[in-house]
Amino acid sequence: MSPIFALVFIAIVILLFIRYKTPKTTAVLPEGYKTILAEHVSFYRLLDDAGRNRFEEKIKEFLGYIRIHGVNTEITDLDKLLISSSAVIPIFGFPEWKYYNLRDILVYPGSFNEEDFKTNGKADIMGMVGSGTMQQMMILSKPALYHGFDNISDKENTGIHEFVHLLDKEDGDVDGLPEALLDKKYTLPWLNLLAEGIEEIKKGKSDINVYGATNKAEFFAVAAEYFFEQPEIFKMKHAELYTLMTQLFNKDYSFK
Ligand SMILES: [Zn+2]
Repeated sequence: MSPIFALVFIAIVILLFIRYKTPKTTAVLPEGYKTILAEHVSFYRLLDDAGRNRFEEKIKEFLGYIRIHGVNTEITDLDKLLISSSAVIPIFGFPEWKYYNLRDILVYPGSFNEEDFKTNGKADIMGMVGSGTMQQMMILSKPALYHGFDNISDKENTGIHEFVHLLDKEDGDVDGLPEALLDKKYTLPWLNLLAEGIEEIKKGKSDINVYGATNKAEFFAVAAEYFFEQPEIFKMKHAELYTLMTQLFNKDYSFK
């Protein structure tokens, strides 16, 4: 291979790599976004000015590489801000993180069923991460998304829940063990805490959403909703889980 050809080849490889790694655009945020975020997103309200700026940049970046589609519903500015907040909250501790395993988000006007995603009949799914032919896709119910942010006392947030599943999925499996985030030395204590947490729910001795007893992946997702919505209470009631989650999400809270 001639040296010039080799150089051109290397340059092309580098360019392709940069193109793959860097989102092409960052979105322009809707007018009044600071007020909207402060009004609806408690996580954002708790940040200082520098943190808020970083949060806004992450939102712009996210909306630059993810497509959001309304199915029988219009996508509003508030929808975009709440969806991107759901995405940014779990990865706020990782400045470089991007959701390479997500391309499109479908927003439905209500809960839907798992078979054909219709919103009538037995339609009780509020959000899901696609698999198989729906790889790189997420589906969210709009009322569930809104409810998650407008009511923090219930410690539930569908948007955050689904993005935590995506973080979990980064290593290939949605199994409650996010290998990309958790230092190997914490693997065993983490799995033990998940198992104990599930047992506590089954015995009726836990204030963590009963849906968490389904399996370790669901326990991780509902405990994360609680961690991000009511961190102070979560720390008080689930000290060990709280400590490991601060490691896992690289996020600590300072309480007064
Ligand atoms: Zn789930």
